This record gives sequence, C-alpha cells and structure tokens, in this order.
Amino acid sequence: MTLTTWAGNYAYRAKTVHHPRTVEELQEVVAGARRVRALGTRHCFNDVADGPEALVVLDEIPPDVVLDTDARTVTVTGGVRYGALAEHLHAAGWAVHNLASLPHISVAGAVATATHGSGDGSRNLAAAVAGLTFVGPDGTLREVRRGDDDFAGSVVALGALGVAARVTLDVEPTYDVAQEVLDGVPWDVLLQHYDELTASADSVSVFTDWQEPTLRQVWRKTRVTSSYAPAGDLFGGTLAQAPRHMLAGIDPVNATQQGGVPGPWHERWPHFKLAFTPSNGDELQSEYLVPRRHAAAVFESVRGLGDRVAPLLQVSEIRSVAADDLWLSTAYEHDAVAVHFTWLPRQAEVEALLPTIEAALAPFDARPHWGKLFADVDRDLGRLYPRWDDFRALVARVDPDGVFRNDYLDRHVLG
Ligand SMILES: Cc1cc2nc3c(=O)[nH]c(=O)nc-3n(C[C@H](O)[C@H](O)[C@H](O)COP(=O)(O)OP(=O)(O)OC[C@H]3O[C@@H](n4cnc5c(N)ncnc54)[C@H](O)[C@@H]3O)c2cc1C
Repeated sequence: MTLTTWAGNYAYRAKTVHHPRTVEELQEVVAGARRVRALGTRHCFNDVADGPEALVVLDEIPPDVVLDTDARTVTVTGGVRYGALAEHLHAAGWAVHNLASLPHISVAGAVATATHGSGDGSRNLAAAVAGLTFVGPDGTLREVRRGDDDFAGSVVALGALGVAARVTLDVEPTYDVAQEVLDGVPWDVLLQHYDELTASADSVSVFTDWQEPTLRQVWRKTRVTSSYAPAGDLFGGTLAQAPRHMLAGIDPVNATQQGGVPGPWHERWPHFKLAFTPSNGDELQSEYLVPRRHAAAVFESVRGLGDRVAPLLQVSEIRSVAADDLWLSTAYEHDAVAVHFTWLPRQAEVEALLPTIEAALAPFDARPHWGKLFADVDRDLGRLYPRWDDFRALVARVDPDGVFRNDYLDRHVLG
C-alpha cells in the first residue's frame, strides 16, 4: 500500500519503512542504513519527511513517559502523539504550555517543524523542548540539552540532525482553559485593533475567507483563574450561542467545547477533539509567519488578493506567536503573526497561486511553515534566518555523510 501524507496529497518515495519496537532496534536501523529519515504522524503537506531509501517511524516504541516534577519536565519517545501525552500528564496533575489545533501529531515531528504557537505570550511547541536524545548517523545516541552550544540549532531541525528517540519538554501544573467564539467581528478590528484583540485572551484565532463582510469567527481561549467569567459580546461581535465549526456547513461535533465552559487544557487548546479526525483529509494547508509589526499591512495585502484566494480557500486562520531563540523557528527573534490557509484539495491551482501570495508577503519577510505547502521556486530562505549558516555548519558537523539528507533539505536548506 502506498504511504501518503495525512492529506493524501504526497506519496512518500522511500523504498522501505521501519517500525522498530525499542530504541536499540531504532539504533540498529539507523546504523544499517545508508540514507534514512524519521517520519512522524505524516501531518506535513510536503516532502519534508521523505527520503530516498528508508523511513523510520517510532509508533511501535512504547511512550515511556518519565515525569520529573522537580525539574518540571517530561521525557517521552519522540513518536508519541501530543494527545496521548496530554492525557497522561493531566492525569498526573501536569500540563504543557500549549497544543496545536489538533492533538494527533507526534511530539518529535511537531517540534522539528516549529509547529504552532498561539497567543501573545505563547511560543511554539518547539520552544518547550528542554532536551533531545538523537540517534546519530552511526546509530549512537547523542544528547542535546538546553544550555548546550548546539541546542538552539537542534530543536527545529527538520530531521536533518538524526532521529529524536526521546524528547524532554517543560511542564507546569495542570490548569483549565475556557474558549468562547465571537461571530461577526468587523474587519476594522483586525486592521486597527489587532493588539487589543489578541491581548483579550491567552490564545486568539481569527477565522476569515478575506471576503466576507465581517470576520467569520474569533475563537478566544483563556486560562481559567478564580476571577474568570465569560466575556460575552466583544469588539462589535456577538458571543456564539451554539457550538461553531470554522468551516461553513460542517457539524461542530468534532470541535472542542466552547461557550466559556472551563475544562482541562488539553480539551480546549486544540480546536478538535483527539477522538475525532479533525476533518476528512480533504484539505491542504499553507502558513506564513510574519514579524508582528507588519500585521495590519499583511492583512491588507492578503485581503487585496481575496478574489483570487477565496475560490480555493476553506478558511484562513490568523494567530499570534511569541518570539523564541531557535535558529530555524519561524518565530526566531521576533513576535510573529501566523497567516494560515486551509485550502480546498486542488493542489495544482493552490500551487499556481502561492507565488502570488508570496510576492505580496515578500516585503514583510514572511517565513513559510516548514511542513506546509509553499512555492517551490528558487528562493533564498536563508536571508530570513540570521543563524542559517550556523545551522548548515551544524548539519555538516553532525551528519557529514548526509545520512539524513533528502531532496527537501537539498532544495530549501542545505543545497
Ligand atoms: C489537519 C492538520 C492540522 C494542522 N494544524 C496545525 C496547527 O494548528 N499548527 C501548526 O503549526 N501546524 C499544523 N499542522 C501541521 C503539522 O502539525 C506539522 O506539519 C507537524 O510537523 C506534523 O507532525 P508529524 O508528526 O505529522 O510530522 P511528519 O510530517 O511525519 O514529519 C515532519 C518532520 O519532522 C521530522 N521528524 C518526525 N519525527 C521525527 C523524529 N523522531 N526525530 C527527528 N525528526 C522527526 C521529519 O523528518 C520531518 O522533517 C497541521 C496539519 C494537519 C494535517
């Protein structure tokens, strides 16, 4: 059977797929391979995880969750899904700072691509990494801890530095979150009051198709404290009185609970419940992260393309992301705004449009999400990342024979 991305839009070309059951077996697979790539839960939309020869998936290695309450960390097998980790952590009274819009993705795969921040004070998932244990090109284990020289270059590494067998994440005591949805917030709020809007909750997601007369929905997620009370109508919008899905005409049954009802963090940060498939897979995604200072100009630019974007779009989501210090992070050294597009599954048309969107975003130094569709044209991504050359030197040092290289890395990063 052909192995594809979750969206089915890309078929992996690697010749073999290994599922080791222990870290030792994983080490043997890597040591015995000429070229090998780690594969997570296949939720990227491009060939970032693919390789010319072997893929290795960690889904049969037990999660082996080790909670260190003194250090406030948890260490897990890299292939563990956030949803499974979250249930374990919450049961033990602990939490991570954030989750992506879906809990189905693997920890190592998500951090390798700088997946998801959401909130003015919330950095992406990679920023919670405190340490990694890689299986290196010769099959031996290599530890990298926060504070080590190579650390900031090793977290968002696109699989280029080896297979992350174990990942250590920061944790904090468990907490509750409540989410409320606003309908009909005027567009002007996005253009003129974006800072107030995103400051109104810990995580704010704006949904729009760029053409509707008002913003489609605004999802506000707030950490619950003793003084929490649902805010009600805000910013000229009205509080939704029934559950909402961000896609028109889709039953909100798979969305996490809304209406300002407090619940555990892992049942509110994601937009979708773990037990449900977030959608039927009939979608593609692109996402660009721009320095926050350009937010209003970026929104105007994309809105100006609304008549070309909307026919291919299911919905766009706009989030804020706090800065971090990870070399290939899309929020490296500046607070960012993520402008996300959930496309209809019409890849050729989407790919034909992406250069136009990217030309509009180019003056704002937009960094494409590593795991989503972006224009496959000659470009200099390096100019967007001040530590680019350091990352390339790190890869050359750790993997001199290119055991973990693939076409994607050659095209976009290492070539
Ligand atoms: C429905 C849907 C919703 C999404 N929502 C969001 C969202 O809200 N926010 C967001 O930012 N992104 C989102 N994404 C994108 C997705 O979260 C990222 O692309 C993420 O990287 C996928 O993780 P994965 O485990 O599936 O990785 P894969 O696609 O399997 O692999 C991604 C990369 O990680 C590397 N990798 C995987 N495992 C390891 C390992 N053990 N060691 C070293 N490297 C490894 C691979 O080599 C590859 O380079 C979404 C995707 C889908 C399909």
